[in-house]
Amino acid sequence: MTSIDAPLTPDAPAAASPASAALEAREALEADAASALPTPPAELHGPVLAWFDRHARDLPWRRPEAGAWGVMVSEFMLQQTPVVRVLPVYEQWLARWPRPADLAADAPGEAVRAWGRLGYPRRALRLHAAAVAITERHRGDVPSDHAQLLALPGIGEYTAAAVASFAYGQRHAVLDTNVRRVFARAATGVQYPPNATTAAERRLARALLPQDEATASRWAAASMELGALVCTAKNEDCGRCPISGQCAWLLSGKPAHDGPPRRGQTYAGTDRQVRGRLLAVLRDTSEPVAQAALDAVWDEPVQRARALDGLVADGLVEPLEGGYYRLPVS
Ligand code: SF4
Repeated sequence: MTSIDAPLTPDAPAAASPASAALEAREALEADAASALPTPPAELHGPVLAWFDRHARDLPWRRPEAGAWGVMVSEFMLQQTPVVRVLPVYEQWLARWPRPADLAADAPGEAVRAWGRLGYPRRALRLHAAAVAITERHRGDVPSDHAQLLALPGIGEYTAAAVASFAYGQRHAVLDTNVRRVFARAATGVQYPPNATTAAERRLARALLPQDEATASRWAAASMELGALVCTAKNEDCGRCPISGQCAWLLSGKPAHDGPPRRGQTYAGTDRQVRGRLLAVLRDTSEPVAQAALDAVWDEPVQRARALDGLVADGLVEPLEGGYYRLPVS
């Protein structure tokens, strides 16, 4: 009789489940990526983590009292907006809606109003929708499980990994613009990463992750901070960089970018600017706004109508009878 605890013999190999086979394949790829790196990952971890210990900014979402909700709010806000602009809005947001259920109980238009001038205001609607889902599915607590985070509306791969890592100390590759730039330079030896995140970058990021959860979580924050403060897009400060001795791009003489042209961030004259002006009028009042008040903010009628139609289609503005508009109430 074979005990269920008896070890398996080589003649009777355990059948690998599809999930464990996929995991093994992924680990093999990561091991390959790690062995192909010019510098072993461990030689980058120590200097970057020590630098972070000394230079990390004291940001409110990094404090213990921020909790998972504070981390999540900050991640939504920081995705396309600099820290300095996020700080006051973040503070007001958490004071008004300290828990997901508080935001869920308010109208989505109030989230759009409080978003102010952070830009890309659809993020406010998505954050509101995520708060509703957290309230309904998770009894008001931001889930710690990566798959459950990913299933929330408005949460993609990056945000799920960031919340799981920063709020719950888990081991995930957190690939934002800053981290991708640091890895492109230090490990790949090019000035800029591709315009969109690639599978190779994800493999590299996982290969660079420290093994234990707590260090991996700190590494995610530290490599992000290095990209934000030292290895910036335009003015990398290699003289202050803790990994200047190991940086592949610096050691190869900083070859010029030869990839596809980098996407610019124009604003003046774009539909984004018109949308911003229209929304500013609606944010300033809790009353419905007449079409004439919206017409006054932009001279060009075709572009203005297109921008307003876009705001309505995105659910950021609600059209009412008689040519009036307001922020969405439901
Ligand atoms: S040495 Fe320079 S380019 Fe390389 S990671 Fe540091 S700041 Fe960036």
